[in-house]
Amino acid sequence: MSVRVRFAPSPTGGLHLGGVRTVLYNYLFARHHGGKFIVRIEDTDQTRFVEGAEQYIFDCLKWCGLEPDESVLHGGEYGPYKQSERKESYRKYAEILVTHGYAYYAFDTKEELEQMREANKTAENPSPQYDHRIRKKMRNSLNLTDDEVKELLEANTPHVIRIKMPENEVIQFTDMIRGEISFDTNLVDDKVLLKADGMPTYHLAVVVDDYLMKITHAFRGEEWLPSAPVHLLLWKYLGWEKQMPQWAHLPLILGPNGKLSKRDGAKYGFPVFAMNWTDPRSNEFTEGFKEKGFLPEAFINMLALLGWNAGTEQEVFTKEELIENFSMERVHAAGAKFDYEKAKWFNHEWMKKKEVRSMMYDVRNLLEANNIPVNDESFLEKVIELVRERCTLLTDFVQQAGFFFKAPETIDADAVKPKWNEEKKNFFIEFGKQLQSLGNWNMAEIETVFKNLATEKNIKPGELQLPMRVMLVGGKFGPAVFQIAELIGKEETVKRVEKALHLLEA
Ligand code: GLU
Repeated sequence: MSVRVRFAPSPTGGLHLGGVRTVLYNYLFARHHGGKFIVRIEDTDQTRFVEGAEQYIFDCLKWCGLEPDESVLHGGEYGPYKQSERKESYRKYAEILVTHGYAYYAFDTKEELEQMREANKTAENPSPQYDHRIRKKMRNSLNLTDDEVKELLEANTPHVIRIKMPENEVIQFTDMIRGEISFDTNLVDDKVLLKADGMPTYHLAVVVDDYLMKITHAFRGEEWLPSAPVHLLLWKYLGWEKQMPQWAHLPLILGPNGKLSKRDGAKYGFPVFAMNWTDPRSNEFTEGFKEKGFLPEAFINMLALLGWNAGTEQEVFTKEELIENFSMERVHAAGAKFDYEKAKWFNHEWMKKKEVRSMMYDVRNLLEANNIPVNDESFLEKVIELVRERCTLLTDFVQQAGFFFKAPETIDADAVKPKWNEEKKNFFIEFGKQLQSLGNWNMAEIETVFKNLATEKNIKPGELQLPMRVMLVGGKFGPAVFQIAELIGKEETVKRVEKALHLLEA
């Protein structure tokens, strides 16, 4: 049996950390076992459909490097991979369930359902469910005669099909992470399987499609655990029990206060979505890890460890190492706390580790988006190599690398002024002149000129380093100052020193 796993998102909005982690664990498991990773779009709830969300999901997967083997975009033998395009295939199964007495037609109108809730609500149960007690009092095929049902169906009376939850039974299954889990059927309501518009609900569609797509393992968030008894019964009632996938319900991702929410992002200033997302209905914007300056390697590395560990001290993993080491047995059931500082730590590690050539495209785009033109690729490569360790996020390259390509427009004069004096000013005037006539332009030579002149003028070189840095860079940051001078070249170094002298004068 070859492994087939699926990620089954509903296209209702941006893809948050938890969603990407579900993708990742599916992907790693599939790759580890040489199986297939499938993405199925679960868009049966038309009221929650959001324009652009499907494309966004695929864009995120691409950015993360977690591309599926089969999907709407990638094709495959088990398509269509979008539930709205499979609409016709579901009704048949709902009817089979009715025929075998596992489900029934329910003709209750909205008003009738409302009345039922009103009439049956108590202090402990303010919103009664359509369950084994209530169904006996409702307008459904369990209570109507066969002729009445036939007549209603022939008259195209709006109806749904509901599962008939058994009474007083215990349903059990073994979760790959949580072990034995059991449910009391009396506490589960008669979920709708087929809606009045002919669309299946998630419950029916997920079972039918996992079966038809030959899914062997189904991994999903812990929030789906309460739905498991309905799904287990459907597998059984449809006669597919032997083909039922093994399930694992992944741990919650926790924020500073309980379950991590989209709101936490805005509240605490960190991204919660993979990429920037603007909800087309509300125009609400949510920031993404990509645009914040995270490398995809760091992002998936950090996510992999939110709920899993290799059982060793190792924290930094390449995707290949994750594939090799990943196992569902090492995923823990308890919620995993998201720590933004730790996420940045992972990114910094990857900034140092990633191959420079594969960062160039992004850094160049970033600089150019900030009006910093990059004309020389090999120069860019040198600069990245030199400053990468100083960058936690990709976006830090704007400050840390920008001045190599474009002179600072202003300088942090306040950093220099308190200790600025005539002697220092004269030093830099003279230094500029000596640099002009320097034959070999390299950091050692520049430093020699600098030190000799300092000795001659009787100023400690240490006191001159900061002003020089601010002159070349604009502020108190960047790598070794003579190295900067070497890289930006003679003409540019002299020009920046002269310009800074003017600015300090003013
Ligand atoms: N469509 C469900 C979701 O949006 C999928 C749950 C599952 O994987 O069974 O998360």
